[in-house]
Amino acid sequence: MIESSARHAEVLVIGGGIHGLSTALHLAQAGVKVTLLEADYCGRHASGVNAGGVRTLGRHAAEIPLALSSRTLWHELKGMLGDDGGFVPSGQLKLAESVAELEECRQRVRQLQALGFTHETLIEQQEVFERVPAVARHVVGGIWVQDDGYAQPFRTVTAFRLAAQKRGVRVHEQTPVQRVEQTGTRWRVTTPEGHFTAEHLVVTAGAWAGELAAQVGEPVPVRPEGLMLMVTHRVAPFCGPVLGATGRALSFKQFANGTLVIGGKLVGSLDFPARHGEVEMDQLATSARTVTDLFPHLKHLAVNRVWAGVEAFIADDLPVIGASRKASNLSYSFGFCGSGFHMGPGTGKRLAQLILGEASDISLDAFAIDRFNTASAGPSAIQPATTIAQH
Ligand SMILES: Cc1cc2nc3c(=O)[nH]c(=O)nc-3n(C[C@H](O)[C@H](O)[C@H](O)COP(=O)(O)OP(=O)(O)OC[C@H]3O[C@@H](n4cnc5c(N)ncnc54)[C@H](O)[C@@H]3O)c2cc1C
Repeated sequence: MIESSARHAEVLVIGGGIHGLSTALHLAQAGVKVTLLEADYCGRHASGVNAGGVRTLGRHAAEIPLALSSRTLWHELKGMLGDDGGFVPSGQLKLAESVAELEECRQRVRQLQALGFTHETLIEQQEVFERVPAVARHVVGGIWVQDDGYAQPFRTVTAFRLAAQKRGVRVHEQTPVQRVEQTGTRWRVTTPEGHFTAEHLVVTAGAWAGELAAQVGEPVPVRPEGLMLMVTHRVAPFCGPVLGATGRALSFKQFANGTLVIGGKLVGSLDFPARHGEVEMDQLATSARTVTDLFPHLKHLAVNRVWAGVEAFIADDLPVIGASRKASNLSYSFGFCGSGFHMGPGTGKRLAQLILGEASDISLDAFAIDRFNTASAGPSAIQPATTIAQH
């Protein structure tokens, strides 16, 4: 039985993925009383089962300022959480496998530079071979980002949860929110464990957030998808950086224990009501082929584990982050389209600042929830790197 004093909070966060926990932690650090409700257990969904890519490389231009600020926090995670989440600043490299692809990379880097972003640099074939000596000789160059890397997802989410709880955040797992209602300015939510109330509500419910936004009259074109990954047996270390590709989907990294984590926009099937993704082996075979094209010596390496997690995608490939346009004291952060693990630390900090009314030099305008209502919706500049699809 939950005590009645635990049923009211200044801020109630719905969803215990990296975004909910990061927002809760940043609010608690500012002295706010926060309760977080999680339907399953923290990190059960995308945040705990992803590929761990910490990546500014290949981002939509609108996301870059937030992605860069989040990356700064990844480098400071140990001081912030007491655990670095297994973060390794390995660098990330997007490979070009033809002259045409290298030209595409060159254009991308030029466009970014014109916008004032210098974190992506073009590298020629020789530098790729120096960084990844085992890569196939048809690779002609690529884009390199020095300070990106990877981390361990469930360890990171757990570190955020523990740090948040240490700061006084009350976390209720196995507590799905069924209904959200506002009376005056105050919020009341219904769960099988009874009602909770708060002055401010934060929806960080991942692929399920659209259902809650719809209850407030703010429909969002968010769709759940089952994204897949596979992990191989151990192999002697041969690849330091995280790799992606320009002309085909790839997400590839080698962990310190020798295993390879392979993905790249691999969409399986989904049992949304049962809250889990299903693996489709055909799709995994495509990715395995890409990997053996790039590293022929892996041809006979066995796959050890495969799985699918549930991720939220939004029609324009950008998340929803910011205040409700329909109701007071309501904020959202969801729909990270396959690359929100990286964004968790920075977005949580920025959303907490917004809720606290603090100034920030990072605008959230591009992520407004009402952008779908206008004909000229969405930011432009550089298109999302859809073919890159690194995780
Ligand atoms: C296979 C895979 C690989 C990926 N690889 C990468 C990568 O390498 N790098 C990267 O940056 N991103 C990656 N991503 C994307 C990243 O994992 C997500 O964008 C990010 O974790 C989303 O975090 P979240 O907190 O918004 O959502 P989630 O982690 O899904 O958390 C939302 C939580 O809300 C809870 N919830 C939902 N509804 C309710 C309710 N009504 N009441 C209470 N709780 C509720 C859910 O149970 C869930 O725990 C990958 C995703 C997948 C699936």
